[in-house]
Amino acid sequence: MSEARSISIFGATGSVGASTLDLIRRDREAWHVVALTANCQAGELAKLAREFDAEIAVVADESCLGELRDALAGSGTAAAAGEGALIEAAQRGADVTMAAIVGCAGLAPTMAAIEGGRTVALANKESLVSAGALMMAKVRESGATLLPVDSEHNAIFQCLAGGRIEDVASITLTASGGPFRTKSLAEMRAMTPAQAVAHPNWSMGAKISVDSATMMNKGLELIEAHHLFPVGLANIRILVHPQSVIHSLVEYRDRSTLAQLGAPDMRVPIASALAWPGRIDTPCEPLDLAAIARLDFAAPDETRFPATGIARAAAGEGGGRPAQLNAANEVAVAAFLDGRIGFLAIADVAQRVLDAWSPPIPTTLDDIYSIDTHSRALATDMTRGPAHV
Ligand code: NDP
Repeated sequence: MSEARSISIFGATGSVGASTLDLIRRDREAWHVVALTANCQAGELAKLAREFDAEIAVVADESCLGELRDALAGSGTAAAAGEGALIEAAQRGADVTMAAIVGCAGLAPTMAAIEGGRTVALANKESLVSAGALMMAKVRESGATLLPVDSEHNAIFQCLAGGRIEDVASITLTASGGPFRTKSLAEMRAMTPAQAVAHPNWSMGAKISVDSATMMNKGLELIEAHHLFPVGLANIRILVHPQSVIHSLVEYRDRSTLAQLGAPDMRVPIASALAWPGRIDTPCEPLDLAAIARLDFAAPDETRFPATGIARAAAGEGGGRPAQLNAANEVAVAAFLDGRIGFLAIADVAQRVLDAWSPPIPTTLDDIYSIDTHSRALATDMTRGPAHV
């Protein structure tokens, strides 16, 4: 029997965290759990830490530490809280770190894990979007292996196996189109948070579900792909594919196009990252193409869904623009989920924050954080007051 590998899961109480732990639960002997983290779901985190016999459990929100300590009393798991504790947990150096915190809040622990030079499975796209150049430079410097978990990027990564990036003519990111794919602008204006988070194919956390409904998720993924797969921004395309069966495609210079297919279940790309370069079993249904019968494709409609165009422009400008866009979008999505702004205002706020201020070129993580903070303040001002748009 091979030796157990160690793993830390940042964002263990979330949707990606649950899918990761589901796979680990099925092969308990193969894994030693180092750190599990959450923001403030202390009871749930403690339950998971006990089940998986984690070395340490960390809540980002320090006000939740008391609850975590109480819930872990008598267990062998240490309790800690705060951003410093998240970074220290990342520095414990697991063989694999699953970066699955939502938002730019995941940036510092993800960078700390990358600095350790081991394997980082990256779901937390906002950290790569915000600090892409710095993160990729850190990956090169530390020798870490960065494995994309986002299903599209994981698909591209798999299609690139055995190929050379210089031979790639284009990359196509597929997009389900989200729950409002066929809705008119007038209909979208009235959509509620409950309607926006009801994704037709994927079960995900609230923030990414709203991003999927605005298609900002695809915009963020475009920026993510631009950093992970350097084929030139103009060679990264978006294709609406409502069935979410083809997860993305790579076209080579000889016009041979490779695609990765699978059921829309995050356990497939997560399993690929956990086992890479090998394979492990998953409980996922095999793909039954005869039952699916047809696959549809359409060009994205940037009149109804302007977010992909906004993101492409931010990626093209580079510098601090993606961090600014990400921060504005995080604030706008939270305001929409709170009922403070309407659905169409999300992309509008993102665009207005980009128009309002030109950020300096970031060269350090502190620069990223100041762009993030300033952009959040602008977006917060724009989302204050009675519901609009
Ligand atoms: P969830 O909202 O389900 O979970 C988020 C996790 O992050 C929870 O563990 C949460 O803790 C924790 N968290 C939230 N805020 C903070 C904070 N400020 N500091 C530290 N931890 C925090 O998100 P998902 O699992 O859906 O998504 C996670 C990441 O993966 C996102 O970046 C998303 O874009 C990406 N992703 C997700 C996919 C999916 O299918 N869900 C697919 C592809 C990518 P708590 O429970 O205490 O709030």
